[in-house]
Amino acid sequence: MSDLTAIAPPATIGMLGGGQLGRYAVLAARVMGYRTVVLEPDPHAPAGAVADLHLVADYDDPDALERLGRESDVVTTEFENPPAVALDALDRHALVAPSPHAVAIAQDRIAEKRFLVDIGMPVGDWAVVDSSDADPPIRYPAILKTARLGYDGKGQRVVADASEMRAAWRLLGGAPCVLEEALVLDAEISVVAARTAEGGFEAYPVAENTHRHGILDLTVVPARVAPRLADRAVGLTMAIADALDYVGVLAVELFVVDGELFVNELAPRPHNSGHWTLDVAQTSQFAQQIRAVCGVALGDTGMTRPAAAMVNLLGDVWADGDPPWERVLGDGRIALHLYGKTTPRAGRKMGHITAWGEWPEEAEVLALDARRALWSRR
Ligand code: ADP
Ligand code: MG
Repeated sequence: MSDLTAIAPPATIGMLGGGQLGRYAVLAARVMGYRTVVLEPDPHAPAGAVADLHLVADYDDPDALERLGRESDVVTTEFENPPAVALDALDRHALVAPSPHAVAIAQDRIAEKRFLVDIGMPVGDWAVVDSSDADPPIRYPAILKTARLGYDGKGQRVVADASEMRAAWRLLGGAPCVLEEALVLDAEISVVAARTAEGGFEAYPVAENTHRHGILDLTVVPARVAPRLADRAVGLTMAIADALDYVGVLAVELFVVDGELFVNELAPRPHNSGHWTLDVAQTSQFAQQIRAVCGVALGDTGMTRPAAAMVNLLGDVWADGDPPWERVLGDGRIALHLYGKTTPRAGRKMGHITAWGEWPEEAEVLALDARRALWSRR
């Protein structure tokens, strides 16, 4: 750690975006004694409610961006798609971490794939699609993904052949896309790690992820993959972070196919698959984000229990009104998290449950049973 560059409390940390990731980062910053300012248009957003100051304005509002930049010693983001103009505007007034360059790569699937290929990362077969007569040499079935603004499986279509692909491209708005061979996945894993400006790097134990309808459903830690694969995943993540000269928490999603790893995508921020760290790690990924962007020593990423599992609570759980929370509050091995969102919508991330135990299977069953109990007849 270099004392010269560390940003110490009561300095101000700016947050572009007001969702649950921002909420936890703001809370972590406040615990450490920092002042926090959030820029987010939704007056009821999860992070706005817990910040010292909530600037209610659009992400590209020049006056609000100037205010956020001037108020802050360092500004970070909590979502993947901040407009490039916003980060550039902030960059003129405050330190921005991760850098606008790193965020720009992660928010464009074409730039991201090219970057990964350039630095020698293993990726599945892919091609750019940006015209109505495209016919790239890709094996079908394949997945067409919009290059920008996709998340939680949005902006994606599985296509069986080239003509279906071209129809899907028009349905997705005719915007630049990547087409990926649909891989047969043995497992999905992710590495959540942090890097400081001085090159300090710490990774959490590798997480094993299950998605439903393109949305993360379950994370189990440590991932039940060969130690060789887990080590390699962390090594790839470190190489990616170094190549981006990355500052902050970075998540790398990977596919396991026939015992080999392929990098799926990058998230330039704390990640849903790292939420278990709030309850079962020495340092949460959000505290780690604050430490990394402030240039203080990275915290211990060790687990406080041998295993953890996290299940998301989507708005669907609210179908019959408020779920019977008392059913999960009676077990000391389970932590309930609700993000303070007022309108539950199907598919919207409203909260999550983390459980822990001696074995991954034990934590997984506890978490899944807890969520199931919220569904059964009231
Ligand atoms: P998002 O930005 O929505 O998370 P992803 O590219 O991570 O988009 O895709 C969401 C999920 O869809 C992945 O976690 C995986 O389950 C599935 N998926 C995406 N691409 C592929 C692929 N090429 N082969 C197989 N499954 C895929
Ligand atoms: Mg993803």
